[in-house]
Amino acid sequence: MAAQRSEAALRDERSQFHPFTSINDMKADGPMMIESGSGVRIRDIHGKEYLDGMAGLWCCNLGYGRKEITDAITQQSEKLSFFHTFNNMGIDVVGECAEELLKRAPVPMSKIFFGTSGSDANETQLKIIWVYNNLRGKPEKKKIISRWNAYHGSSVATASLTGLPGMHKLFDLPKGPILHVSAPYYYRNAPEGMSERDFSRHLAKELEDTIEREGADTIAAFFAEAVMGAGGLIPPPEGYFDEIVPILKKNDILLVADEVVSGYGRLGTYWGAQSYGFEPDLITSAKGVTSGYFPMSAVFVSPKVWDVLDAGAGEIGVFGHGYTYSGHPVGAAAALAALKLIDDLEVVKNVADVGPYMKQALHDRLGQHAHVGDIRGKGLMLGIELVKDRGTKEAFPMQDRTGRKVFKAAAERGLITRMLGDTLVFAPPLVMTRADADELVDKFALAVEDVV
Ligand code: PLP
Repeated sequence: MAAQRSEAALRDERSQFHPFTSINDMKADGPMMIESGSGVRIRDIHGKEYLDGMAGLWCCNLGYGRKEITDAITQQSEKLSFFHTFNNMGIDVVGECAEELLKRAPVPMSKIFFGTSGSDANETQLKIIWVYNNLRGKPEKKKIISRWNAYHGSSVATASLTGLPGMHKLFDLPKGPILHVSAPYYYRNAPEGMSERDFSRHLAKELEDTIEREGADTIAAFFAEAVMGAGGLIPPPEGYFDEIVPILKKNDILLVADEVVSGYGRLGTYWGAQSYGFEPDLITSAKGVTSGYFPMSAVFVSPKVWDVLDAGAGEIGVFGHGYTYSGHPVGAAAALAALKLIDDLEVVKNVADVGPYMKQALHDRLGQHAHVGDIRGKGLMLGIELVKDRGTKEAFPMQDRTGRKVFKAAAERGLITRMLGDTLVFAPPLVMTRADADELVDKFALAVEDVV
């Protein structure tokens, strides 16, 4: 096989060690070399076109080649390609970006802290949370509750926060002060015959028991994605956040909404929290903030938290945290252009229309397929779990690698999906039309039928 690979693929294989890639798969298949993108489509080096069902990596929400963003990046690079925001240095475009972000927050927020990735933003959250409780004279209140199947990043601390045991085991990650409770995975984890609402109550009880066991005075925060992404595309069962939030409030535990994927329109509301009616104390965002055109993250800090930091300013002295590229002027310019496009193109409204349309089309085409166990998700964040037996929900044997086979079959047919085990997921650009959704569902259904 290697003999047929392009020079570019061979160069890549010789020189690169890819993130989240099996070294053996890399050797067997070589990399898929992508060269260009326009709208909702990308093209490989051989000129083959693919409908990008994943917006890159859940991020290129406005599609590829948006001149408004590339122009903003060019102009800002020419004006001021970089300066930092440490030690009280300010750059107007960065302040303007922070102000625009605050205007769009789902609940009143006081401040933005910039970074470059979802992982570094969640690291920032941990430090904010810990200093917050130090300042409140509660130095013991430091533990963090996350959930199995959560994805919060791949730095050491955020990979511990992430609820994917494989990522913990591989690197012997320190567990640190992090606790995991069950994933709200109704399809797989709910006892037979239990309603969604009862499953939510069951999970709330588990959370309550965990808090009681550990002691509320040791627990600082609860991290949650509105819809779990990388851990299997898992939407919360009915009433989940309604059950969870009062327990957190009662126990003085901060709620961190990890909106790295769900933010900026993906679920058909501007924020995931709005889809499920909860009010976070802290928000983590990245990816869609620049539509993936520039690496940038933005942490939102509520008045409840900020007021404590502000009052403790003397005690804190220098807030000893930040990244060279915190508040990068080019990132800020890209974000300003992306935020404006999200408004001008009425992206949220489009997702609220095309998302349910696409979900229905998936049901229509694949709902009765013998190996489609579950079709789930919200807005343009949808997953299809393939199983060996629909009736018993028995999974395919791992070594069959069914998900991977479907991913490859879809690529053959000119469609990019993403496999999370045997759950295939879609998070396409939010500017996708109903016609694009029809094409996506058609190609995907054929790919599934190619394999099972
Ligand atoms: N949080 C969530 C919900 C994510 O999906 C991701 C990445 O996919 C991250 C955090 C980490 O972001 P990054 O890969 O930019 O570090």
